[in-house]
Amino acid sequence: MIVAIDGPSGSGKSSVAREIARRCGLTYLDTGAMYRSVALACLKRGVDPEDADAVADVARGVSISFETADDGSQTVLLDGEDVSAAIRTPEVELAVSPVSANPAVRDVMVSLQRAVGEGGDVIAEGRDIGTVVFPSADVKVFLSASPEARARRRAVQRQGGNLATGDSVAVDEASEQEILADLVRRDTYDSSRETSPLRPAEDAVRIDSSELSFEEVIGAILALSPDLGARAEGDAS
Ligand code: C5P
Repeated sequence: MIVAIDGPSGSGKSSVAREIARRCGLTYLDTGAMYRSVALACLKRGVDPEDADAVADVARGVSISFETADDGSQTVLLDGEDVSAAIRTPEVELAVSPVSANPAVRDVMVSLQRAVGEGGDVIAEGRDIGTVVFPSADVKVFLSASPEARARRRAVQRQGGNLATGDSVAVDEASEQEILADLVRRDTYDSSRETSPLRPAEDAVRIDSSELSFEEVIGAILALSPDLGARAEGDAS
């Protein structure tokens, strides 16, 4: 079974997809981490993210892989090096938009993502999963939330709060505003690019998570497919 979760930055896709993967025994595929890894590789090699040909060469030359621990946490490896933290910096966040708008980069990434899908039983999250990567996915969700709710969640995560357990922390108003500005900038870039813009697939179920708890979002997605629901019920935890 293939589950596709798309949506803008900070909509909660990653936490939700990771938890559904754990409960339902699916492989979790974080496609944003792949574009971030290419952006990081460009920065490391001194390649200008706007130089389309050079960036395409970087994308063709890197090796990106994932390792999943028993608790569901994932390590991202770029040419064998753990870059899980390095791909979440503001520098990478600035570079990733032009990198991911590059059609040659998208070709390489989409092929890698489909290769993972061939193994079956995957939950993939990103911007173009339901529209381009897996258009025949069994379950398609477009998860959104208001920009303010998304910025707050990112700020809580950055301060070490856990959205899944509801553990919250105090967040600094200035950093929340900075995160909000970055989210809006990336959404605008991702939605207006020519290749695979961020948009819901016609047959995607839209869920607005602004007013929903983490568990309510999980429940709403599991309820979309008897197969998914049955897998979650078989979950021992
Ligand atoms: O989801 P995340 O915020 O980690 O994604 C980082 C960036 O990667 C996005 O802002 C977007 O430009 C790009 N991306 C994409 N297509 C995907 C996943 C992510 O263009 N399927």
